[in-house]
Order: sequence, then structure tokens, then C-alpha cells
Amino acid sequence: ISFAHFGFEDSLLAVIRKLEFTEPSGIQKQAVPIALEGRDIIGIAKTGSGKTAAFVWPMLIHIMDQPELDRGDGPIGLILAPTRELAHQIHTEAKRFGKAYGLKTAVVYGGANKREQFLELRNGGVEILVATPGRLIDMIKMKATNLRRVTYLVLDEADRMFDLGFEPQVRSICDNIRPDRQTQTKLPSKALLFSATFQKKVERLARQVMTDPIRINI
Ligand code: AMP
Repeated sequence: ISFAHFGFEDSLLAVIRKLEFTEPSGIQKQAVPIALEGRDIIGIAKTGSGKTAAFVWPMLIHIMDQPELDRGDGPIGLILAPTRELAHQIHTEAKRFGKAYGLKTAVVYGGANKREQFLELRNGGVEILVATPGRLIDMIKMKATNLRRVTYLVLDEADRMFDLGFEPQVRSICDNIRPDRQTQTKLPSKALLFSATFQKKVERLARQVMTDPIRINI
């Protein structure tokens, strides 16, 4: 499988070429076609496998397919990550690919100035948001953003989010997304979960948040 097999638009292929990615990584070959079909995914994969692009590329296509893309003000694609460092890395990757479609990406995480993040979210409509769970909840409480449009959810490094004690926040966010995922757009919504290890807690969350997920083990 080459990048052309994914059916990506030329603008995205051009960015991929510019980054000198020669072929899709193992997880990309497995996950991208499944995600493009609209199936939920549980991926057991580590950082360095190319998992970020594997969930970002189908997310971009999902967002471009939304009829309400020009309306509303919250993100359509939401990526939760355990740490500021990982959130940053994902943001960098999402931003450079999202630009190919003219999509805006923002990142919020704990330990940084809340006011600046508030203003960035509040003033610039973003289609993609990368966030650590606690700070996202703060931002929602401050009404900097909302989850009403979210129909593509990624939980990255789910095991680490749980190890760091974010389980209640992750659950609260998932609970707030689910009703709207079903009623607002009436389009299929997607959830992808990545984890380096597979624990009971992660399995339980996956069963509650996802619909008939396909498992990928790299
Ligand atoms: P990740 O596992 O998502 O953290 O990605 C690790 C690194 O590999 C990042 O710097 C990516 O930009 C890069 N990368 C992702 N996919 C590919 C690919 N198909 N070929 C070469 N590098 C890639």
C-alpha cells in the first residue's frame, strides 16, 4: 500500500511528500483504511510508530465531509493526550497536515497560561483541538469552547492518561460528547483509542465509548 492508495487529495499528498515520508508505516497501512471506512479502532501502538498521522489523516477527511463545517464554533476533531509534551507533538503534526485543507488546529494543556489558551480558543474557530483532559474541562467551564460538534474523538496513550489519574476527566469528556455525537450531525461519528499497553481499565472505557471497534496490534 502506498499513500496514493488511501485516496488522499493532492494537497495532503504534497505535504506528505515534502516531509519525505516514503511509504505508510505499519500502523498507517492497517489503521487508515479502517478509519476511512468509518470504523472505530483500538490500536495498541507506541510512539514512533507513526500513529499520530494514522489518526490525523482520516480525521481531516472526516472533517471535510461535515456539512456544518462552516457553522458552529467548537472543534469537530478532538484528540486527548496525557501530557503537555505529547499534546504538543500531536498539535505540530495535526497542524501541518490540517493546513493542506485550510483547517485550524489548537492545543491546550495544563501548566500553561489559562488566559492565553482561553483567548486563542475563544477567538479563533478551530476544527481540530488537541488537549490534556483537565485543561480541556477548565476551558469548557470557562466557555472558551464546547464539545457540541465533536464527531471524531481520539484517546491517545489511553493507558498513560489512566496512570496519571485522568480517568474521571476522560470519562466526563466522553460522556459529554456521546449524546451530541448521535443527535447533532446525524452522521456517523468515530472514536479511536491508542494505548501502548492493554489494561482492563482501558478495555472497559473502550467498550463504553466505542462502537464495535476493530483491534490493531503493532
Ligand atoms: P508518532 O509515532 O506518531 O509519534 O510519529 C513518529 C515520527 O515519525 C513523527 O516525527 C512523524 O512525523 C514520523 N512519521 C510518521 N509517519 C511516517 C512515515 N510514513 N514515514 C516516515 N516518517 C513518518
